[in-house]
Amino acid sequence: MAESKSLKEQFWDPVAGFGVTFRTMFKKVVTEQYPFEKQPTAPRFHGRHQLNRWPDGLEKCIGCELCAWACPADAIYVEGASNTEDERFSPGERYGRVYQINYLRCILCGLCIEACPTRALTMTNEYELADNNRADLIYEKSDLLAPLLPGMEQPPHPMRLGDDDDAYYRGEFKAAPEEPGDEASRRAAAATQQGGEG
Ligand code: SF4
Ligand code: SF4
Repeated sequence: MAESKSLKEQFWDPVAGFGVTFRTMFKKVVTEQYPFEKQPTAPRFHGRHQLNRWPDGLEKCIGCELCAWACPADAIYVEGASNTEDERFSPGERYGRVYQINYLRCILCGLCIEACPTRALTMTNEYELADNNRADLIYEKSDLLAPLLPGMEQPPHPMRLGDDDDAYYRGEFKAAPEEPGDEASRRAAAATQQGGEG
């Protein structure tokens, strides 16, 4: 037969328990109401990747696969292809024809963006990378490419900002023709050159 409870256990302990509840009621609430209220991340938070563009809309990725080789989780798959004068996606010889990142594998370490020689690959602050099936967590090039900003043109198209790819890589763009929205284009160029710092 169980021992009967002492007077302290019967009366004082419940009161003490409610005392904790009462004290907590007046403290600042720290619960985050995610996903209804989203908190901003730290500026250099490692989120979803982005494939950046040059100010004329050409892609910075040259399909070299260095990001894939640097990845410790084997999360990146790249297939490069050659540009032609009729069909150009990036300055220079090569572009990334297929580009995939598997977010079931990625640990968002950022080694891939350190390996990228053209700053084509950076990371955004976007962190909502959950889904209920495998296929949707393998992001394709179309999911990762930066949006076209004002003044940019959807590739394929010729190099608009210089005669050779070195001019692009050195940032020595020749003056683009004055068109409506040109100021916006210049702002886009500056933003693209900076890229998303990872
Ligand atoms: S962030 Fe790290 S794990 Fe993710 S793709 Fe890049 S190198 Fe691989
Ligand atoms: S993202 Fe950078 S490292 Fe990866 S294939 Fe493209 S250019 Fe090469």
